[in-house]
Parts: sequence; structure tokens; C-alpha cells
Amino acid sequence: MIYLDHAATTPVDGRVLREMLPYFAENFGNADSLHAYGRRGVAAADAARDEIASLLGAKPQEIYFTSGGTEADNWALLGAARANAARGKRVLVFSAEHHAVLAAAGALRAEGFAVEEIPSTAEGAADLNALEELLRRPACLVAVMAANNETGVLQPTAEVSRLCRAHGALYFCDAVQAAGSEKLDVNVPHADLLSISAHKFYGPKGAGALYIRTGTRMQPLIAGGHQERGLRGGTTNVPAVVGMAAALRYAAAEREQNNAKVRALRDAFIARILASVAGAQLNGRGERLPGIANFSFEGIAGAAMLQRLDLAGVAASVGAACSSGSAQPSHVLLAMGLSPERAAGGVRFSFGKDNTEADAAAAAEEVIRAAKDLRKS
Ligand code: PLP
Repeated sequence: MIYLDHAATTPVDGRVLREMLPYFAENFGNADSLHAYGRRGVAAADAARDEIASLLGAKPQEIYFTSGGTEADNWALLGAARANAARGKRVLVFSAEHHAVLAAAGALRAEGFAVEEIPSTAEGAADLNALEELLRRPACLVAVMAANNETGVLQPTAEVSRLCRAHGALYFCDAVQAAGSEKLDVNVPHADLLSISAHKFYGPKGAGALYIRTGTRMQPLIAGGHQERGLRGGTTNVPAVVGMAAALRYAAAEREQNNAKVRALRDAFIARILASVAGAQLNGRGERLPGIANFSFEGIAGAAMLQRLDLAGVAASVGAACSSGSAQPSHVLLAMGLSPERAAGGVRFSFGKDNTEADAAAAAEEVIRAAKDLRKS
């Protein structure tokens, strides 16, 4: 089996798992308990918070643990818009955001917020001219991700941030897909809110964080106990946050070597496919995450290619994992102006640090064979 779906999720790094294990059965205390068991839990969670903050250029009290990227994204949109509606009951959202952001924006619309989409360029980046135009009228919040999860296209976050500050709008950056391979700093560019999720960078699933800049007005999304400074109730998932901190530490320390390796594998794979499959088109241009290659194959449905590859032992994905199996065209590719047919044909291959040259070469041959067979049938 060749796993080329690291943008959907990554395996937990063995070193990360080893750091997590003592917090399941041995040091299992509730981090809110006022005894030795609880103190061990709170010490571990505090250390994780400190480390994550330092790796993101934030203060520890600005890091809020969540159950993953989806919760962090929902909280950023709903919590910040509701608390800052006085700045204008209007929210601007990049049209190629993850469904976690788009669906939360839909919920805001149902509450009476005006929600407007920032269009995508044909290359797959947020259109800055359109954003500047949209910001002529007051908006309380702007959401533009750091990197797109389907195409890997890096977004112009520095310019987005500058425009938001110039127009008095909060800037929320979904950095879930970027966090493993891009250097993140909440001050460069300046973000008011930023989300990450551990399972995208060799940490555990169900562990995420939302950075909330000091002074940002915010409403809770989850009511409950006084955890996370009263803004997010729920017993702290100590092993998960310990794992998230460890995974982010390794991602930062090994970034350059992992990116160079993954980029080389991905580029060799792209070159082989473009040279050998007629009608293969790479979706998304300009600067991209090192591991992602998104192709459309003329006349071939993405789901058919995926199934054929799965039978051959190659795991890839059609766009966002959550829409896998559905024949819907990708909203990301549609936003870039692709035809519905090509947008339904997008197949995402995402390489990871444990892939090899042999994986990339064998997977390319399977894609070439699959394209031939599917066109014959
Ligand atoms: N945002 C982006 C850009 C993503 O790629 C994903 C996951 O695919 C999410 C949010 C959701 O994160 P999680 O799976 O942790 O809920």
C-alpha cells in the first residue's frame, strides 16, 4: 500500500505517541482536580500550551485547546462574529475555505449576518482586489486560510492581514493544512485568530487549538466548566494536547529536511504524470505546500480514478476528505473557474515524510495505467 493522503490525515509519529502514553493510564488525573493526580495533568497541559504558544509566536494565555480544526474554525467564526457584531454585522469568507469555515459562515448567515465570499483567482488564491473592494463597507471578520487543503495553494496572508488592519476587521486564518510544513507566526503576518489541528502534522486526531489574540472580544462556543479561561468548557484531553505540542515541535525542528524531501517526491510524481498522461492537468498554481499535487484527468471522474487506484494499493483523495465518495464537484476547483466536469475530476495526491522515491515512482505508474484503462472502458 502506498499512502498519498497526508492532507487528509497523518499517522502519529512514534516519538509523539511515546510522549502521550504516560497520560492515558499512569498520569490520568483530571487537570482541574486539586490533588497530586490533577497537578500532574495540569502541569503537562500547561507545558503543552507553553510550547505551542512559543512555536506560534503567541503567549500561552492566547492558546485555547479544542477538539480539532473543525471546532476551532467554528469557534473562530461564530465566537468572533457574535462578539464583534458592533463593528458591522458582515463577514467576508474566502470561497475556497474548508467546509468547517464555510458551514460556520452559513450558520452566521442564518443568524442575520451578511456573509460575502472573497472570490478565488484562477490560480487558486484569494483575490486581493476583490477583498479590497469588499472591505470598503464595514466587516467585523475576514476568513482567509493559510494554505488550501485541496490544491495546496499558499494564500496571500500578509496582504490579507494588512487590508484587514487598515479597515478595522478581525483576521481569522485557518492554518490547519499549513501548520505541518509552513512556519507559522501569529505576528507575521498579524492574525487575530488562527486554528491548527494536530492530526495534520503527525499528532493525534481530535486535538486542535485556536489562537485568540489578547484583547479580541470572543464568545464561547461550548458552554460548560471554567476550563480554557472560561471560554471553552470540557475536561482537558491531556494526552492529546501533550501529543499536539510534541508533534508541532518535531514539525518545526525537521521542517526544512521534510519539506525538501516531500517536495522532491511530489515534483518527480507531477513531472512523470504530466509527461505520460494526455489530458492531465495540475490544479492550482503559484506557491504551494510541498506535499500536494491536485490533478484533473480529462474525461475521467475523480471517484473512478480513486477507486481504481485503491484497488492498485494507492491511497489518494478526491478533494476534501469529507466529500470523498460523493460525486459533487469540488467547491475549491469550481471557485477557480474550472468546469463542473473538471471540478468533479480533481484527485489530490499528498505526500508525507515517510514516503519514498519508490512510492512516488510506483504511484505514478499506477496513475498512468489507471488513466489508460479508464479511458478504454
Ligand atoms: N481546515 C482545513 C484547511 C482542513 O484541511 C481541515 C481538515 O481537513 C479542517 C479545517 C478540519 O480539521 P479537523 O479534521 O481537525 O476537524
